[in-house]
Amino acid sequence: MKNDVIMALVKSRILDVYNENLLVNGTTTMKWFNDLKSILSEFFSVKMAHYLVFDIDTLRPLRENHMNTEKLHMIKWVDIKAYFDEKDFTETPFWDTEMNMNKLVKILLKDCENQPIGLLVMDSTMKWQEFSESGCIDEFICTINNLVKTIKQSIVLIQQENQYRNLFRVTRTFNSTLDSGEILNGTLFAINNAFPQLVPTLILSNDQDRKTSIPYKLFDYTSERPTTVDAYVSGEITTELIQDLSVQLINVPIKGKQGIYGILQLSAPDDYHFSSRQKEFATSLAETTGNALENAKLYIQSHRLVSDLQLINETSHKLNTNISMEEMLIFLKDQLMKSFHPKQVGFVFMEEDEYKISSASNEYFHTDEGQLYIQFVAKHFNKVKDSLFVADFNRKTALQYAYRSLVAVPLKEQNTITGFSIVLHKEPYFFSFDSFKLMQSLIQHSSLAISNSTLRNKLQEMVNRDHLTNLFARKYLDKYVENSMAINNRGVFVLIDIDDFKKVNDTYGHQVGDEILKQIASIIQNKVGEKGIGARWGGEELAVYYAQKTLEEGIEICKQLLQSIQLQTSPSVTVSIGVSSWQQHDNIDFQHLFHLADIALYEAKNKGKNQLSVMEVSHLS
Ligand code: GH3
Ligand code: MG
Ligand code: MG
Repeated sequence: MKNDVIMALVKSRILDVYNENLLVNGTTTMKWFNDLKSILSEFFSVKMAHYLVFDIDTLRPLRENHMNTEKLHMIKWVDIKAYFDEKDFTETPFWDTEMNMNKLVKILLKDCENQPIGLLVMDSTMKWQEFSESGCIDEFICTINNLVKTIKQSIVLIQQENQYRNLFRVTRTFNSTLDSGEILNGTLFAINNAFPQLVPTLILSNDQDRKTSIPYKLFDYTSERPTTVDAYVSGEITTELIQDLSVQLINVPIKGKQGIYGILQLSAPDDYHFSSRQKEFATSLAETTGNALENAKLYIQSHRLVSDLQLINETSHKLNTNISMEEMLIFLKDQLMKSFHPKQVGFVFMEEDEYKISSASNEYFHTDEGQLYIQFVAKHFNKVKDSLFVADFNRKTALQYAYRSLVAVPLKEQNTITGFSIVLHKEPYFFSFDSFKLMQSLIQHSSLAISNSTLRNKLQEMVNRDHLTNLFARKYLDKYVENSMAINNRGVFVLIDIDDFKKVNDTYGHQVGDEILKQIASIIQNKVGEKGIGARWGGEELAVYYAQKTLEEGIEICKQLLQSIQLQTSPSVTVSIGVSSWQQHDNIDFQHLFHLADIALYEAKNKGKNQLSVMEVSHLS
């Protein structure tokens, strides 16, 4: 056959190779090369042909099936570059001595930018010799080169498409989840898809969500391989050949925009070639993972921040709505229970060097054991103004207590500690540091409202009470009686007037008169205690009111008062007393009740003073 006929036939056969491989998903370099080999065998009786793939700076033999007896090694491009300075085709002994052959045909294949793609190596047959000496050789090389170039582009395109499809799928999953476990699962899945031969390991820094079920290693600077640490620190991919294990490690940093969250480590057989394209894919995948983890983390953080602010805002708002101190503390207790789930909550206030447990607190704080916690915290705040965070109380004492987690935050008025809040839980390490900080800012925000309420209460007391006698003022008594008449069934009203007080003043002076007023006030206060209220009605007129007491009970108390005042005042004075009472069916108002007592008092005076007189409702009608 003439060489130009051979050339025409070869071209036609190569066209078939195009058709069978171009843009065909699943085609490989191996596949088209085998097709090419059979052409070489058919037309030139070539028995041995190899193909070396160019990657960055090295030519790597295509890994063929194990039937091959000859073994080709990798060749550095710089070592053979000179052979192809002038032409793309040489016939020299092979550089690799293991080939043990004299003459081999070597054809360099290049891309559009004249960069090497691969090297075709084959034995030099008689038929080939003949053909290569003809003028057709250049056309042959050009045809092969075009084939290789085009199919390589096609394979790259298909691979890239697969990789992007893979990445796209992963990214889409990542965008639809904020669960770090799901993200890492997706990453492992994508790696298994792209590199079924590689074994992936996740090495994560310890700021990750630890609840994931995905197996991973915790990154530890002290025990990690230097190349792994290197990848973690530099954010660049690193590779390492571990000869004694015949293993190659590829460390891909899991990188987000704000930091590096770990390493995706791929373990491969030592002779595995990790191409630049595969590296690119692994890098993109790890970066996608890093960004997704970062988003998840930021989302959780911002979510927590928002709910923290909501809690503080809601609490401050509620506390500033003029509710009573008691209501305030009950609300605060609910908020603490809801947000931090403690088992015991207590509020303790410092009053005249004594710690008083607020009634909003759990009963536990009144038990002996509860008292121990209060004392412990009180002692702390005597020395230090800062909040107290105890992760395991039993580490602080030799004794074993039931509640091991403790947080106590001071309640402050300006800069002085007026009390504290305390929460307890049985489990050690129950409250996180974050919740401690949140509790602190919650209590601090509430502190102001609480101290405002304390001040308001004190101020109100001051307004309600009479300065000289410390009995309630008339205005307060008015409201008190009116309220009682609205909600109770009965009550007793008593008016007390000192006998001949003008004379006392004239004899002993105004100051002594004042002292006597104070003495009588204190006798009345001791008598009524918590059951009724005593008030200064006017100058030297005093009043007492008992809700829910009968007239008889009232009279009895007044008799005692008459006696006590005469005996206990110094200089001794007597009083006259007018008593009135009401019951629900009487249907009278405070005006009438007062009027009756006033009439009774007038009567007592008229009858000779130092006695009591009663005026009943029936007198009105
Ligand atoms: P009677 O037995 O009728 O009540 O005689 P009395 O002198 O007490 O008369 P009356 O109740 O009308 O007098 C009120 C006097 O009480 C006038 C005033 O000198 C005296 N007084 C009123 N308020 C005070 C006070 O705050 N301190 C002192 N020291 N005296 C007062
Ligand atoms: Mg009077
Ligand atoms: Mg008087």
